[in-house]
Amino acid sequence: MALGTASTRTDRARTVRDLLASGEQSYSFEFFAPKTEKGEQTLWNAIRRLEAVSPTFVSVTYGAGGSSREGTVRVTERIATDTTLTPVAHLTAVNHSRAELRNIIGQYAGAGIRNMLALRGDPPGDPMGEWVRHPDGVTYAAELVELIKESGDFCVGVAAFPEMHPRSTDWDADVRHFVDKCRAGADFAITQMFFYAEDYLRLRDRVAAAGCTTPIIPEIMPVTNVRQIERFAQLSNAAFPPDLAERILAVKDDAAAVRSIGIDYATQLCARLMAEEIPGLHFITLNHSPATLEIYENLGLHQRS
Ligand code: FAD
Repeated sequence: MALGTASTRTDRARTVRDLLASGEQSYSFEFFAPKTEKGEQTLWNAIRRLEAVSPTFVSVTYGAGGSSREGTVRVTERIATDTTLTPVAHLTAVNHSRAELRNIIGQYAGAGIRNMLALRGDPPGDPMGEWVRHPDGVTYAAELVELIKESGDFCVGVAAFPEMHPRSTDWDADVRHFVDKCRAGADFAITQMFFYAEDYLRLRDRVAAAGCTTPIIPEIMPVTNVRQIERFAQLSNAAFPPDLAERILAVKDDAAAVRSIGIDYATQLCARLMAEEIPGLHFITLNHSPATLEIYENLGLHQRS
């Protein structure tokens, strides 16, 4: 489809809620706002390559600990105005008053962005440190969902945790608080990355048993180098499969072999999930396109575009 046509604009302004309601599995990509000129080029190369496979939507993270606010707003706005893609802007409550949050929501609205992912975020520095609410801010993501919904006609997503949020004391509380976010108005959810399909399916069953039907999109991150084994566990609290770690470490000096094992594992995880009537798949790209495109091709999804 040509850039800038009327139909392109309509697609871009569509909500994730409507796109998911079409019944087709969605395929989407996550980017982050780079801090350097070189990083910006890398990001835009990836966006242009991934645009060619017509993802259902793309999302841009909000810097950890509330950092990179300007970068996230800038990149998301540019995706909305310069590409054919439907953007989802992440927004966290870290260090923001309600007035500041409304201001950012207004900036997104001004750029034609209708989809947001409402997150509480983690404290700056130590993500597991004490969470301190801004004196005029919000305490939990459910309140941010309400704030966004009060601010206009937005489609709002929230986070879900297949291995339970690290601060949750038990599953009942974790699921109850997730359902609170949905009842506050969330239209969809995206999970933390995970490595075992069963973790996702168990969460989905628990949420359904609590009477909540909000679509939960699994998030996938392929391992493409040895360093990521440790990094992933730190970032996500996700249990790294010991057999996968073993296979990767056995070829740790052969970068191509490591990458191939990681992509193969992610492909099999996606295939297993796709057989389970999931609403879609959300890929963390780290602002690079090749690994995601390879998985896309392995799954036969490139034929959709
Ligand atoms: P909440 O839903 O508020 O939950 C936080 C904790 O509080 C949970 O343990 C929950 O069970 C508990 N809780 C909720 N409500 C209550 C209540 N009423 N009473 C008691 N306890 C309660 N971080 C970023 O900084 N930037 C990003 O762009 C970003 N993107 C993300 C995207 C995805 C898909 C995911 C899964 C996470 C993302 N994160 C991001 C990380 C996220 O901000 C952290 O995991 C954060 O710790 C939790 O955010 P939340 O929105 O789930 O918080």
